[in-house]
Amino acid sequence: PIYFDYNATTPVDPEVFAAMEPYFKQHFGNPASAGHTWGWAAEAAVVKGREQVAQLIGAKSQEVIFTSGATESNNWAIFGLLSKLRENNPQEPVHFITSNVEHSSIMKGMAALTRWNVDVTFLPVDHNGQVQVEQVKKALRPHTRMMSFIWVNNEIGTINPIAELAALAKENKIYFHTDATQAAGKIPMNVTDMGIDLMSFSAHKIYGPKGVGALYIRGKDPKVQLDPLIYGGGQERGLRSGTVNVPGVVGFGKAAELCKKNQAQESAKLRELSQTLWKELQAAIPGVKLNGHPTERAANNLNITLPGAKTEKLMSHLQKLGVSTGSACGTGAMVISHVLTGIGLSPEEVQCSLRLSLGRWTTREEISRAVDILKEGISK
Ligand code: PMP
Repeated sequence: PIYFDYNATTPVDPEVFAAMEPYFKQHFGNPASAGHTWGWAAEAAVVKGREQVAQLIGAKSQEVIFTSGATESNNWAIFGLLSKLRENNPQEPVHFITSNVEHSSIMKGMAALTRWNVDVTFLPVDHNGQVQVEQVKKALRPHTRMMSFIWVNNEIGTINPIAELAALAKENKIYFHTDATQAAGKIPMNVTDMGIDLMSFSAHKIYGPKGVGALYIRGKDPKVQLDPLIYGGGQERGLRSGTVNVPGVVGFGKAAELCKKNQAQESAKLRELSQTLWKELQAAIPGVKLNGHPTERAANNLNITLPGAKTEKLMSHLQKLGVSTGSACGTGAMVISHVLTGIGLSPEEVQCSLRLSLGRWTTREEISRAVDILKEGISK
């Protein structure tokens, strides 16, 4: 089978793996052990990893807090901010704004806020999957305290106008969070210049290991304060206690460094491959439709609707491809993608949709084979 699911996760780059390995073996120390060489080696590795990750996003080292991944970072951004707001002003009403095509860790986290008496607006997006700045302006209320918008959509690849949205938030003194899990490492960014307050991202989407991610927390102009996520020994500036995942951080750092170094070249290659894939698909499958924004889209992602071909019927062919489909049978019940529904697809169309996401090791030959496999599946 050919792997076309790089948005779900990526293999660990061999260079990343090589960088991590010594931190499982000889340098196994606890970075909090301040009295010996094992501890110092681990501490130095975490310092370096934090610096590499900070450089990828244009932050200062101390603004990067390591977590277990973007799900944790997203949840912490929401609940950590809320509890700080409540601590400072318990009686004040609170309103958050997000969109209806966010990752489930934002959607469900925001939905859970109703129990804490927070009003949440889930703004609809346009048919390309973009948040409309004008709509956000209309949704503002006197007590709007946070906005959270996904930077690059994980299903359809649409890029949101994050600079404009962050500027709007700043103008109105509203905290701005973005889920950049599919953006960091793939598009150039500078969180400091853009005025982003909080940003979630994850190592395993950028050829790093699973189980490590980060939350960027703005350190000044203005300084953003969150309540700690985990109490304990005071690691991660007292915000997220627990022994740091040293090999994970080393791998995240190396992965970030490689992405930064190769970003322009890598995205040009992926853009070309995905455009070739799209052209060949259109030639092979009449009526195939592209979902998401025609131009403001991630270089590596194609989400398509096959005319009249439910993906569940194509399973034996799709297994040769390793793709994600727009609908999935989770715990026995059919789950229809809220993102595809959110951009106006009918349930029928969603069931005929799939995502091909390309990555560092995708080749030109794999593109042609993917088209052949899909074409054959549909004709059968
Ligand atoms: N947000 C987005 C946009 C994602 O694509 C993902 C991963 N599917 C996550 C959050 C969750 O990331 P993690 O697996 O690191 O928890």
